[in-house]
Amino acid sequence: PPFPIKLAGVVQHGFGRGGKDLGCPTANLPDDSITPMSSVTRTGVYFGYAQISPEKDGKRILRDEDCTVMPMAMSLGWNPFYKNERLTAEIHLIHDFGSDFYGHQMNAIVLGYIRPELDYTTREALIDDIETDKRVAIKSLSRPAYQKYMHDTFFATEY
Ligand code: ADP
Ligand code: MG
Repeated sequence: PPFPIKLAGVVQHGFGRGGKDLGCPTANLPDDSITPMSSVTRTGVYFGYAQISPEKDGKRILRDEDCTVMPMAMSLGWNPFYKNERLTAEIHLIHDFGSDFYGHQMNAIVLGYIRPELDYTTREALIDDIETDKRVAIKSLSRPAYQKYMHDTFFATEY
């Protein structure tokens, strides 16, 4: 796939399907922002960097530390709501936020593939795998060839 892939959009409400319960909330991108990802037909988990804008409706809401460029793991999958004809991208940022950030602008650079979508028989197995994904994302991003993307002009240097 043609990495890096740049995605941007306003964070949407999803189905609220237990992301937070699993310790893995995912910020959902709007459908039309996923076009750059359409060349990638492989569903699964990807890694890269993401950044959230501090502002919503012109007001600065988020703390400074919530608006830096952060490592992320992204799930790309076919959306059952659209009869599996549309892709959905959901991004878990590896950071503890002080609050939710629905309605905020999110920019992301996808840099590589971690694994395909898998079926889990237990909740514990799923949670374990999410933890592995986070470790793989952080470990992969520690390579200098990837770190330079933190400073890409696609991200804001200062908010
Ligand atoms: P939804 O189905 O609405 O996407 P989730 O359980 O996946 O519900 O929660 C996603 C929301 O959680 C995000 O839109 C964001 O506002 C908030 N959130 C808080 N921390 C994070 C994080 N580290 N990564 C992604 N989203 C987060
Ligand atoms: Mg989500």
